[in-house]
Amino acid sequence: MVLAILCRTLDHRYSLHMRILVLGGGPAGLYFSLLAKKKHKDWDIRVVERNAPDATFGWGVVFNDKTQNYLKDNDEPSWRDITATFQMWDNVDVIHKGRKISIRGNRFAGIRRLAILQILQKHCLDAGVDVRFQTELSQPAQWAGFDLVVAADGVNSTVRRTYASEFGPTIDVRPNKYVWYGANTLFHGLTLIFRENEDGLWIAHAYKFDAATSTFIVETDPETWKKAGMEKRDEAETRKYLQAVFADDLRGAALMSNKSAWLSFSVVKNRRWVHGNTVLIGDALHTAHFSIGSGTRLAFEDSIALFEALEQTGNVPAALAEFERARRPKVEDLQAAAQESMVWFETAKKDMHLAPEELAYVLMTRSGKIDHENLRKRDPEFVALFENWQRHKE
Ligand SMILES: Cc1cc2nc3c(=O)[nH]c(=O)nc-3n(C[C@H](O)[C@H](O)[C@H](O)COP(=O)(O)OP(=O)(O)OC[C@H]3O[C@@H](n4cnc5c(N)ncnc54)[C@H](O)[C@@H]3O)c2cc1C
Repeated sequence: MVLAILCRTLDHRYSLHMRILVLGGGPAGLYFSLLAKKKHKDWDIRVVERNAPDATFGWGVVFNDKTQNYLKDNDEPSWRDITATFQMWDNVDVIHKGRKISIRGNRFAGIRRLAILQILQKHCLDAGVDVRFQTELSQPAQWAGFDLVVAADGVNSTVRRTYASEFGPTIDVRPNKYVWYGANTLFHGLTLIFRENEDGLWIAHAYKFDAATSTFIVETDPETWKKAGMEKRDEAETRKYLQAVFADDLRGAALMSNKSAWLSFSVVKNRRWVHGNTVLIGDALHTAHFSIGSGTRLAFEDSIALFEALEQTGNVPAALAEFERARRPKVEDLQAAAQESMVWFETAKKDMHLAPEELAYVLMTRSGKIDHENLRKRDPEFVALFENWQRHKE
C-alpha cells in the first residue's frame, strides 16, 4: 500500500487501479469517461453530475460531418445510437427582407441535447463507469485523492474558479442578448432569420433536431433589447413579443420555453489548461459562439484528445502536457473563427441595407474559413446567383 502510493507520487505511471474523478456529466465528461473505461476496465472512473439524468437546459444542438467521423472512429456503438436520431441537412437558409436564399453544401446534423446525454449515460453505465447523479462537488477537499481530476463542469466551472490564479481564465461577457427556445415548426437547414421592427433588429438561429421540433435561438443587440422593454417583460410576455416578430417564420407555432431566459454569451479562454493533476475540458476550458454550432463538437474533441494523450504517454503529467500541446492550436483556431462570426452578428445592423443575395454571401464568408472558390465548390448555383446579382447591380 505504502509502496503503491510512493510509486504513484514518484512516477505517476498508471497504476492498475488508476482513480479518475470527472466533474460534470455533460458531453465532455461522459465521452471521456466512456472511452477511458472501455479501454481500461480496471480503472476506477467516477462521474459526478449535479443534475438528475433527465435534466437538461436548452433544446437541440448541431454537429458537422467531421464530428460524426470522429465519433464513429472512437466508439462505434455510441456513434450508432447518436446518429440514429440525427436530422440531417446540407443547406444554410438566410431569410432577409422577407426572402429566403439557400446555400447548399454545408452538411450538418441536429440532435436533441438530452438525447445525446442519455445515450452517453447509458453507454457509460453499461461500460461500468460509476456515474453519480444529483451530486454536486464544490469544495477542493471533495476532489482530492484521485490520480486525475477532469474538470468538465461547464461554462461556469467551479474548478476553474477555485484555481483561477493557476488556470488564468479570461471571461469576456458579450453585449448581445440571446434566448434559447424550441418550436414545433420544422426548419430544414440552419436557418438564419433577420427581422426588423420599430425597436430594432432581431435575429433567429433555427434548425430542426427531431421529427417535430426545432431549436429557435433569438439574438439581439442591447439597444433593441432595451427599447423593446425586455427588462420588464416576464417570460410569457417576452415569448408573445418574439412570436409576433417571427410570426411569418413560425407559421402559427408558439415558442416553447425550457426555463428560457435572456443570457449574455461569455467567451471563455484559459492561459493554462492544467493545474497539478487537474485538467479543464469542454466549456469549462473554452467556449465558441453558438452561431458556428461547435460547442458540443469541441467538447467531444477535447475528450478524444485527452484520452489519446493518456494512451500515448503512459503517465498523468506527461499526458496533460501533451493534451494541451496538441489541442491548444486547434481550439485557438476555432475560437478565432467563432469570434469573427460572433462579432458579425453583434454588428449585423450595419448590413441590413444589403440585398438578400449579398447578405447571404457576407454571412457565408464571415468567419474567414470559407472563401469565394470554396463557396463555389459547395454550391455553384448560389455563387452563380450571387455573381449574376452583382453584374446587374453594377
Ligand atoms: C444558446 C446556445 C446554443 C448552443 N448551440 C449549440 C449547437 O448548436 N451546437 C453545439 O455543438 N453546441 C451548442 N451549444 C454549446 C453546447 O451546449 C456546449 O458547448 C456543450 O454542452 C459543452 O459540453 P460540456 O460537457 O463541456 O459542458 P456542459 O454540457 O455544460 O456540461 C457540464 C455539466 O457539469 C455539471 N456541473 C457543473 N458544475 C458541477 C459541480 N460542481 N458538480 C457536479 N456537476 C456539475 C452541469 O450540471 C452540467 O451537466 C450551445 C450553447 C448555447 C448556450
